[in-house]
Amino acid sequence: MNKGARLLGGTDMEIKHIQDHLMSVEEGYVRCFLIEGENAALVIDGGVEAGLREMVEKQTSKPLTFLLTHSDPDHTAACGEFEEILVHPAEMARLAQKRKTQSRFVAVQEGDRLDFEPYHFEVVLIPGHTPGSIALWEKEKRFLISGDSVTNATTFMFGEGRNLRAYLYSLRKLAAIADQLDVIYGSHGPVEVPPSRIGELIALGEQVERGEIQGVPAERFAGDIQEYRSQDAAIYYPAQDKE
Ligand SMILES: [Zn+2]
Repeated sequence: MNKGARLLGGTDMEIKHIQDHLMSVEEGYVRCFLIEGENAALVIDGGVEAGLREMVEKQTSKPLTFLLTHSDPDHTAACGEFEEILVHPAEMARLAQKRKTQSRFVAVQEGDRLDFEPYHFEVVLIPGHTPGSIALWEKEKRFLISGDSVTNATTFMFGEGRNLRAYLYSLRKLAAIADQLDVIYGSHGPVEVPPSRIGELIALGEQVERGEIQGVPAERFAGDIQEYRSQDAAIYYPAQDKE
């Protein structure tokens, strides 16, 4: 649970304690994560604000590893502040194109282990929201850091690189480990997501795929984007009749 602000940055950034050595860096509608291990720290995602590194370095003096769950622009503002970016190869071309960064890319792949004692993460490849979206699974501590793929907010599933079929495949893969999770930490919306959200998103995605559910026009976007919602799951997706 959040225990309130511990540090306030010069911008709208705020570090919140989640559990033990796991913190979130709240940036309004999106968040990054910080895991402070015994010897090293892991920063997950680069948010929408510059100055993330400075903010994190007020919290910890441990050497920092920087990783992206995916390369959407609301997760990459601080990329240039880190020498190395751990990211799945399927995100690299887009990242290189969008961000004029000198940072080196380091590939992380399905099944890779990231050890930040006492945390041990396994990389789970979950394409669909983007081609190289990854989640980090802490098996022993029974949580998953899910990026945008499983959240309390509405997941963007329209536009370049989105793939509903792949997203459903990835959600089914996560469903297979859902009973080994107590909580999921998402990038948008309230941070703690119940593992049952995975099943709700699968049910919703299947209904959308089969054209069995009515969406509501999402007026914040141009075009024919609809918000589809069922139980507590929600996605933005193009209107079915225009597909
Ligand atoms: Zn996002």
